[in-house]
Amino acid sequence: MVIDAISNGIVLDHIRAGLSLELYNILGLDSLQCSVALLRNVSSRKMGRKDIIKIDEIIDLNFDVLGYVDPGITVNIVRDGKLDRKFRVELPERVENVIRCKNPRCITSTEQELPHIFKLTDKENRIYRCIYCETRAKGRA
Ligand code: ZN
Repeated sequence: MVIDAISNGIVLDHIRAGLSLELYNILGLDSLQCSVALLRNVSSRKMGRKDIIKIDEIIDLNFDVLGYVDPGITVNIVRDGKLDRKFRVELPERVENVIRCKNPRCITSTEQELPHIFKLTDKENRIYRCIYCETRAKGRA
């Protein structure tokens, strides 16, 4: 893929096809002033089809959110036109305010100021549970 179009920025590669728009929204990329490119259904030898997001600035990204949505994502940090760092995101041990607890009897539904925190309880099956009531988060595919 062509990353030399960016001199300083972040390229999120190997996003599962169809997830880039969801990531764009969850990460709040619409509030950025710099240019952001969403590439959808790019052909990939490894994955068949994949999505890519290019951000034309090195910003603070929540890698836990990335790992939660899609642990297969590769992050490329480009500095002065060169690949500075490349790593894969990981399934986070806990996520805060990324998913909301759906249990109406959960304390988070009455205590509005409480953060919604979920813990990874089963890594193999990617199961997250609310730390307050242990309700299981609706799983991702
Ligand atoms: Zn709960």
